[in-house]
Amino acid sequence: MILNYYSESELSEAFGIDMSSVEGLGVGAGWGRVAPGVTSAGHQHDETEFFVIVAGTGELSIDGRTHPARPGTVVLFEPFESHTITNTGETDLVFFTQYWRDSARARVSALSRTRPNHTDRPQFVFSTPPTPNGDLHLGHLSGPYLGADVYVRYQRLNGNRAWHLTGSDDFQSYVEAVAARENSTPAEVAAHYSAEIAATLKAMDIEVDQYYVTSVDEGYPEGLQRYFTRLVDSGRVSPKATPALSDAETGEYLYEVNVGGTCPSCSHGTGGNICEECGEPNLVADLVDPSSRISSTAPKHAEVERYTLPLHEFADAVADHHRLGRVPARLRELARRVFARDTLDLPVSHPSDWGVRPAEDDLDGQVIWVWPEMSHGFLHGIERLGAELGERWSKEVPSPDWKIVHFFGYDNSFYHSILYPVLYRLAFPEWNPDIDYHVNEFYLLEGQKFSTSRRHAIWGKEILTPDTVDAVRYYLSRTRPEGERTDFRRAEFDRACAGTLVGQWEEWLGDLGDRIDRHFGGVVPDAGTWTSEHTAFLARLSLRLDEITAALNPEGFSLRAAATVLDGIVTDVRAFSRQQSALAQDDRWSSEARTAIALELAAARLLATASAPLMPRFSAKLAAALGIPAIETWPDTADLVEAGSRCTLSGTRFFSTGEQR
Ligand SMILES: [Zn+2]
Repeated sequence: MILNYYSESELSEAFGIDMSSVEGLGVGAGWGRVAPGVTSAGHQHDETEFFVIVAGTGELSIDGRTHPARPGTVVLFEPFESHTITNTGETDLVFFTQYWRDSARARVSALSRTRPNHTDRPQFVFSTPPTPNGDLHLGHLSGPYLGADVYVRYQRLNGNRAWHLTGSDDFQSYVEAVAARENSTPAEVAAHYSAEIAATLKAMDIEVDQYYVTSVDEGYPEGLQRYFTRLVDSGRVSPKATPALSDAETGEYLYEVNVGGTCPSCSHGTGGNICEECGEPNLVADLVDPSSRISSTAPKHAEVERYTLPLHEFADAVADHHRLGRVPARLRELARRVFARDTLDLPVSHPSDWGVRPAEDDLDGQVIWVWPEMSHGFLHGIERLGAELGERWSKEVPSPDWKIVHFFGYDNSFYHSILYPVLYRLAFPEWNPDIDYHVNEFYLLEGQKFSTSRRHAIWGKEILTPDTVDAVRYYLSRTRPEGERTDFRRAEFDRACAGTLVGQWEEWLGDLGDRIDRHFGGVVPDAGTWTSEHTAFLARLSLRLDEITAALNPEGFSLRAAATVLDGIVTDVRAFSRQQSALAQDDRWSSEARTAIALELAAARLLATASAPLMPRFSAKLAAALGIPAIETWPDTADLVEAGSRCTLSGTRFFSTGEQR
């Protein structure tokens, strides 16, 4: 017999609360005590864990959702479910826990389609608000925009509520720079390119549910001012004089677009404020060998008073935030480098005419810096979307129920994953934002960075037509810079169109259609006798479905993996077809031949379904040719096409070759 009594004297600090262990139960076990006002450190693990609350009141947060906890509450955390417990009462909250390893349960949880998908929570999926200083090129499109679009499409196929939001980030200094060069106004430049960008996204079949425009939207500047006032009221953002640069001839304040130099962190050439190479911020005055882009004289150093945030004091807060959502190691490593500095006093206002002035009038002629501004813009976008959907989502009261998902390029990582969580914490101390981050690296063009100014780019509008959009989406998915820089090469794109999509996918589908016309009068045959090769092929299709499901689930989200699986389905079925079709005309094996055809059609059906998030037009066309309903749900199984339905695959053109473009 084991008899154990809760004893405060046996507790010691663990997971941010007080824990003890009870030995001999055959599973890990122990008591936990949460003092009033305390929350345990969030975590997730492969063990299954079980709590019984015996005293006190509080809240359990499981995968970001909150549930009440009181004496008599029993809760089981599946493997990998993130969880915390908070004491919201006046007295100690006491619970008993047991935990154990169960590989089968962990496997089910890891392969689950529902667990990582935030069922029942609204998901706000943001692609970086583009700067309207030019149109979008393939480098932009391959990254955040395609990523967010596929993510939302897949979530909806799983019945979840997800929306793609982005906006026109009008108050960027880059917009001002173009206006100066083109003898225009920043507002005109922003309006022009904002419309161009929206049209390019549409041409790419990227559906945006909310496209806010920061210099135009009603209530935007006032909302931003209130947000900024919250930051000032936190006591952590205040005017401070720190080193800055100005142009030696004109006296103009230098930042972002109008200054360059050597990055003090990685020694690569960089512009002002952020280094694209290492992702770290600079303070402009700390650039090595700085140069003004306004005149050729060396810039002058002088202190400038700006609203400033002592970011270095928030290393622990950022680490806590990085424990909650999906935060790639790449971003946590950037945080490690940024917080290795002794101080990082980050200005959050700058002298400029283009932007929103703080409501506070301490500093004349300054605007709220556009990057901190963006963190408010996301909440603004959610509120606007809510107004359209009849949901009472308020940018003044962000909800713990919200799941926010960000897609961005590595050069925006500092802002999204380090600065914004700190700003949210200061503006809304009660809100513990649950944010997933999906970051991409640079996409190169023929081995060099895309560059608007050097005209080294392929613009979306140059290549996107209704006939090419799916090929572009396929190829960009296949070569997307996930985890490493990748390269768009025009000749390889043309080869992928002609060789893979037309030469293999379309060729197989057309040939399958011809055989169904010839042998079965264009009607889908029923499967007959199954051979062991047939059974193995059905199992293979099921594995392909599992693979692409894992590639589109949030945790392992990878368009490269997903596109590779689509091509893998075609590779598999072409090999299968070559083997089986040799017996297609043999009367002795006609029943088996029908099964082989039914399985090729099952592969085509799986291709139509699984391609829906990546290649929506192709998917719809293929579904129609197979006589199956439009794809509205993500399947659990690889299914046969219903016998007796009419197949019009023969002669259907799905892709155009490079020559036709
Ligand atoms: Zn750098």
